[in-house]
Amino acid sequence: MTKKALITGLTGQDGSYLAELLASKGYQVYGLVRRTSTSSLERISHLGSQVEIVSGDLLDQCSLMDVINDTEPDEIYNLAAQSYVPLSWTQPALTAEYTALGVSRLLESIRRCKPDARFYQASSSEVFGQPDESPQTERTAFRPRNPYGVAKAYAHWMTANYRQHYHLYACCGITYTHESPRRGAEFVFRKITSTAAKIKLGLAKELRLGNLEAKRDWCYAKDAVRAMWLMLQQEKPDDYIIASGETHSVKELVECAFSSVGLSWQDYVSVDPEFYRPDEPVQLIGSIDKIKNQLDWQPEYSFAHLVESMVEYDLKKLTDSQV
Ligand code: NAP
Repeated sequence: MTKKALITGLTGQDGSYLAELLASKGYQVYGLVRRTSTSSLERISHLGSQVEIVSGDLLDQCSLMDVINDTEPDEIYNLAAQSYVPLSWTQPALTAEYTALGVSRLLESIRRCKPDARFYQASSSEVFGQPDESPQTERTAFRPRNPYGVAKAYAHWMTANYRQHYHLYACCGITYTHESPRRGAEFVFRKITSTAAKIKLGLAKELRLGNLEAKRDWCYAKDAVRAMWLMLQQEKPDDYIIASGETHSVKELVECAFSSVGLSWQDYVSVDPEFYRPDEPVQLIGSIDKIKNQLDWQPEYSFAHLVESMVEYDLKKLTDSQV
């Protein structure tokens, strides 16, 4: 029988890749999309009839219950969130509504309407904040240091509690930063690849950044969504870290992006303390031992491939828009 999956956050980076993956596996894919005055379907327009869009909002419990009753999904992936850390400082209550309470509404809707559905919650390495240990494992204590991390920690524990208390098949994937050509423009990785492309085309002259020594554990979004799907195919629900298991500095990223277009980064990049992150996390790096050993998952795409594919995409997009 054809499996049915419901994805929230379909229009986001991960939602679009997950929809592609599930459609390629023969799933009937439903994507929850909230109403906006302009279309937000850019990342999924190429999927056409492979995805059926359903209307709903994490702020509205009735809409979630209606969607679950109508679609009767076997698997539900909650990728929707207010996902941008800096905005969580200026809009903390809204971040909590989407990213924390939205998950309560969804879990409660599943419990009432489709308790046998398997549920994936997009947790985040931001729950670790200033961690006690490096690399972090599934047992590392949560010490979130921004409203986004706090909201994700709440969502994580609610998911674990619904698993324990109501015996839902519910899992959290603690994802570290992951990127792709579909990454939002506000994120630093994207800012670097798109500015390198703009400088190459003569459309920009310089790139101002914060701490070049800051390190992150970055992987490709395509690898991350493959792990999400694998998690819901197991006999028992469990939580896993989804990461590359290695860190790279912003300086390495800049070097790689500029050299991929034949430029020397030192000629264009300057450090501006205005862009320093006040809550810079300490050595966020995920241990992928558990997911590697239990689910046989590891990243397929390298850091260099990720950077180069994003610069290439940005170059093409900018060139096309000039024609
Ligand atoms: P994203 O590109 O920012 O997408 C977020 C999605 O959530 C969008 O489709 C957005 O819809 C939707 N959304 C926001 N508020 C909503 C609401 N009230 N009701 C319904 N939908 C709503 O995020 P992403 O990068 O794909 O990340 C996917 C998930 O993984 C998020 O939960 C994020 O917090 C988490 N995560 C991401 C990373 C990463 O590095 N990418 C790392 C750790 C965890 P609109 O198009 O209408 O705005």
